[in-house]
Amino acid sequence: MNLPQPGDYIDMHTHSSKPASGVFIIECLMAHEDRFPDQAAGLAYTYGIHPWFLTEDNHNQHISNVEKSTGFPNMIAIGEAGFDKLRGPSPELQSKVFEEQALISETHMKPLIIHCVKAWDDLLAAHKKLKPKMPWMIHGFRGSIEQAEQLLSKGFYLSFWFDFALRKESTQLFRSLPKNRIFLETDGADVDIRDIYKKVAGDLDMTVDELNKKIQMNFNEFSNLNFLPPNPLKGA
Ligand SMILES: [Zn+2]
Repeated sequence: MNLPQPGDYIDMHTHSSKPASGVFIIECLMAHEDRFPDQAAGLAYTYGIHPWFLTEDNHNQHISNVEKSTGFPNMIAIGEAGFDKLRGPSPELQSKVFEEQALISETHMKPLIIHCVKAWDDLLAAHKKLKPKMPWMIHGFRGSIEQAEQLLSKGFYLSFWFDFALRKESTQLFRSLPKNRIFLETDGADVDIRDIYKKVAGDLDMTVDELNKKIQMNFNEFSNLNFLPPNPLKGA
């Protein structure tokens, strides 16, 4: 299993395959892309059906690919899976395929990475119905403090949309959140993950090094890979 090394910046969600030196990436593979996790160094994988690329015709094949992906080394989570009200097939099909992926996440004990656009009710309804034991993480989060608090109260992790995290207006949100539930990501955009850490560390009155350690601890917990010693200050 590839693991982040001490000091590595974790890019929690990206579609790029090439980690820069000192960066550990979580590459999101999508079922329609026809690629499975491999052994390349410096990264781990998630695998799922993105709602944009879901159709009535392909979903059975893609679900079996998601199932198959769980057998590959370096495959740490299911997703991105989710709901999109602006793009993709009917809400019914999106819900059905989301639930199927959530069940694979539970069965194989892999956490779930979520894409959610204007469909928070659908997501929360699925959460209530399935009562997952695996952690769920929203990727690309750019919502309000109230929305963040609601999701955190249900046990979600939040990984922030890169552009939102870099904006001044997100400072207040970062300051109001528990630090043990956050992640940062590039989503494969042409942006340096280190610049995002620098901005958010400033928001949180932490050094980049402290934030880096904190997010490694969050990743340790979220992924259940237990590559760090247990944290005596859990929740701090
Ligand atoms: Zn993505």
